[in-house]
Amino acid sequence: MSRLRFSIVNYNESMVKNRPKEMHLHDQSPPKIVWDDGAILVYSAFDLRMACPCAACRDEMTGVKTLREQDVARDIKIVESRPVGRYGQNLVFSDGHASGIYVNDLLRGLGK
Ligand SMILES: [Zn+2]
Repeated sequence: MSRLRFSIVNYNESMVKNRPKEMHLHDQSPPKIVWDDGAILVYSAFDLRMACPCAACRDEMTGVKTLREQDVARDIKIVESRPVGRYGQNLVFSDGHASGIYVNDLLRGLGK
């Protein structure tokens, strides 16, 4: 079983195309990520919080978002980002929410 889990993680990592070079979600305003292909994308902490993929913010079975916009402060901030393997980032928000792991390809798609 543990071997199976391990291979799934490797599979996921190999499928993720985008890699951040510099994470500035918590120390710049507006929040930014510099990607390894040179793209610099700007982020909204509110939009990132709304897109949280964790089980508390989405129905685990259907994937439908259960988090409501009125539940999130408009001036929410990102206080920390931590790499998860080579495939994603764990974002810590100023409301204390820290259970979302954002796959790098998802993060890339959320930037402007
Ligand atoms: Zn969440």
